[in-house]
Amino acid sequence: MSAQYPVDLSAMLEGIRRWVVTESPTRDRAAVNRMVDLVQSDVAGLDLAIERIPGQGGLADNLVIRNTMVGEGPGILLLSHIDTVHPMGTVNAGLPFRRDGDRLYGPGLYDMKGGAYLALEAFRQVAKAGTAKMPVTYVFTPDEEIGSPTSRKLIEDEARRARYVLVTEPARDGGKCVTARKGVGRFEVTTLGVPAHSGARHQDGRSAIKEMARQVLAIEALTDYERGVTTTVGVISGGTAPNVIPQHCHISVDLRVRDDAAGREFEAKILGLAPFDPGVKVQVTGGMNRPPFEKSAAIDVLFRHAQALARGIGFDLKVAEMTCGGSDGNSPASSAVKLASIRPPAI
Ligand SMILES: [Zn+2]
Repeated sequence: MSAQYPVDLSAMLEGIRRWVVTESPTRDRAAVNRMVDLVQSDVAGLDLAIERIPGQGGLADNLVIRNTMVGEGPGILLLSHIDTVHPMGTVNAGLPFRRDGDRLYGPGLYDMKGGAYLALEAFRQVAKAGTAKMPVTYVFTPDEEIGSPTSRKLIEDEARRARYVLVTEPARDGGKCVTARKGVGRFEVTTLGVPAHSGARHQDGRSAIKEMARQVLAIEALTDYERGVTTTVGVISGGTAPNVIPQHCHISVDLRVRDDAAGREFEAKILGLAPFDPGVKVQVTGGMNRPPFEKSAAIDVLFRHAQALARGIGFDLKVAEMTCGGSDGNSPASSAVKLASIRPPAI
């Protein structure tokens, strides 16, 4: 393999460094577009079809790169996001690019510029050598860290056409490969009460906060660890002053489920929340945002194929337990979840 695909480690390290110092927080359109420029320049001169799709909604562009030397039928789809959660300036302040032995550090290096760069390197090598056995498409997206609002349709369309979908999200502890993820639901709940002065007209008021307090407990009580279902009220706001019975209260709810059936069941429960106090209205919006990524037989076959290839080059690829999503919302590792909604690789 090394004879066919030369490995130039120092060039790769320099390539990763350039990507990491080109900071790209999702909401900074110009910054993320500089990353898109960089990816484009890294594939310049190769026999590839490049389509740059202008950004929407104030976000940066999507980039689709196709190796169609062997036609245009179903092939491999590679997916990477080039946005990060780190604000501009992080690389000069808290988290400079650095190397410590076998490890590299820097903003967005782990999630996911390192993996994306290495996958692009493989993609380039295959393009240069003309060794593709099936079409390979590489899609770079600008907005995964905020839930992929402008890239989702593109991803779904491309994935629907693909035989295999590989996402360059980070490995889990010990280099473990993610082959299943929980689904995620997001909901906004508002209670609407009746305002009144807390001294003079207490009996006339209907407290939106008091109602919401009961709703919060009801929502949190839906958590069922045995079934892999969790509900979290992560944000709350309400009221206007200490001496006013509050008219409004608002919460944001996060739901995680293991399978589609639980997704439907718990989505219905949360959307169907009814007021405890008939004098207060409860409004719920939202739903399942990313469907669960269940490990199908086909995914298992693909994983075992990757494992055999890894063994051939000297490492033992292990599978991670089902991933619940990101940690602390800092790097919501959810892009592979999207793939479940699309279809597992049909092998
Ligand atoms: Zn990521």
